[in-house]
Amino acid sequence: MKETKNPAALILLFGATGDLAKRKLYPSLFNLYRKGLLSNKFAVLGVARREKTNEEFQNWVKESVQTFGESNDQLSDFVKHFYYQSHDVTNSESYRQLKTTVDNLDQLYTLEGNRIFYLAMSPEFFGTVAEHLKEERLTQTNGFKRLVIEKPFGHDLASAKELNNQIRTAFSENEIYRIDHYLGKEMVQNIEVIRFANAIFEPLWNNRHISNIQVTSSEVLGVEERARYYDKNGALRDMMQNHMLQMVSLLAMEPPIKLTTEEIRSEKVKVLRALRPFNKEEVHKYFVRGQYGNGVIDGKQVPAYREESMVQPESNTETYVAAKLMIDNFRWAGVPFYVRTGKRMQTKSTKIVVQFKDMPMNLYYKNGSSLNPNLLVIHIQPEEGITLHLNVKKTGQSVETTPVKLNFSNKSVDGMNTPEAYEKLLFDCLRGDATNFTHWDEVALSWSFVDKISEVWSTEKAVFPNYEAGSMGPIEADHLLAQDGFFWWPIADFDIDNC
Ligand code: NAP
Repeated sequence: MKETKNPAALILLFGATGDLAKRKLYPSLFNLYRKGLLSNKFAVLGVARREKTNEEFQNWVKESVQTFGESNDQLSDFVKHFYYQSHDVTNSESYRQLKTTVDNLDQLYTLEGNRIFYLAMSPEFFGTVAEHLKEERLTQTNGFKRLVIEKPFGHDLASAKELNNQIRTAFSENEIYRIDHYLGKEMVQNIEVIRFANAIFEPLWNNRHISNIQVTSSEVLGVEERARYYDKNGALRDMMQNHMLQMVSLLAMEPPIKLTTEEIRSEKVKVLRALRPFNKEEVHKYFVRGQYGNGVIDGKQVPAYREESMVQPESNTETYVAAKLMIDNFRWAGVPFYVRTGKRMQTKSTKIVVQFKDMPMNLYYKNGSSLNPNLLVIHIQPEEGITLHLNVKKTGQSVETTPVKLNFSNKSVDGMNTPEAYEKLLFDCLRGDATNFTHWDEVALSWSFVDKISEVWSTEKAVFPNYEAGSMGPIEADHLLAQDGFFWWPIADFDIDNC
């Protein structure tokens, strides 16, 4: 399908001087601009407390693109669309000035009243901003209005509900774009295409042919400058509630009857509704939490989590979580979805391994050799692609098998990196396509699932640290699979024979 330009719009960016704006949003917007995907009728009004003139702000945006993105000679024209207002979001007075500037820009660029309010700032302000925008009639417009919000959306179901009620006073559900940047990743978007555009996979995509599915998202970095936030939340809330469960729902959903936002979301919601809830004993059986101790990464000694600055010395916060999820529906009954995510692990990688069931018998059994299972590996990041592990005949006279890998790598086809997730999500939002953003029903169901785990964990002190920085997590996570006769497939590219 030919890509079309976005409609005219004003982007009001709250948190315009922050890390996210600098590293992701400006480079992504510039990418859309240089690819001709932004209408010339666009303006960005950046908002944050510190004082800046429009010119200083434009230079800041320019530098951000040069440092974190790809720049070219169109950059000077691009930044002319940027304006700045110093504004404290808790101060009502500032919104009046904001309204005047917004109305002026609307006229100057003939923006037809189309407005995107992008909240790239701490979630504690989301509710306040939404309410003020309504009070000061910034949301009263003849064009479209959309609210884009970053994670985290609450820290449990109760707080998420409260936040949702606040923002719903100013925006309807279909005007709210909750970012889960994993949904903007090329290979996450490809999960549906691999499944629903290939006759060889979909008939096998069920409990008759799949033995288990493994989803790993591992990071090498520790908590860095997010320690204050992270120590109150942990891996369960920071990763499992959103990114991991989103990937599971894409892997497990039924084919939608059409590729519309409503149909796709409705199928994802059904998966979340089918997630088996766990009682206290089952939480111990199906979930493993971990926290890193010190260790060596890339030849350098790194501190334990509890020694990081801004982390409580006795912190009970998990930096790792592994789970065995069960989806109680017709398609998936009996198939474990093993999910793990953690910080300070051996490699940075997000990967899905679909393990197919063993052949009913091995005709090629020789000298104690066993037939390897077929695997479909979906590489989400940093590599992007798929690998299919098959068995073929060993060359020569004997009738023995040997494993082979069929590889597809995005990089080798496109010759360049695929667009940054934010570029795709901004493009979708400008066009009004909310498919790759999370609906409130998904958020609520994910929190109610995760809350049951955190309730149990919050009442029991963990024996931390329980994994070394630079390792693949606590040994208990291996036991989680071993008790079912499985093991974690390696996250680095692997030859099945050596596993
Ligand atoms: P950040 O670097 O701390 O930036 C916060 C921004 O908010 C700054 O521009 C700050 O500017 C502004 N601000 C703070 N208090 C304000 C107030 N009272 N009134 C007006 N502006 C105010 O945060 P960030 O890393 O960009 O993260 C922003 C959001 O994105 C968070 O929800 C975060 O969880 C999410 N997120 C970030 C990343 C990332 O890569 N950074 C990734 C995923 C999600 P002044 O100090 O000038 O006011």
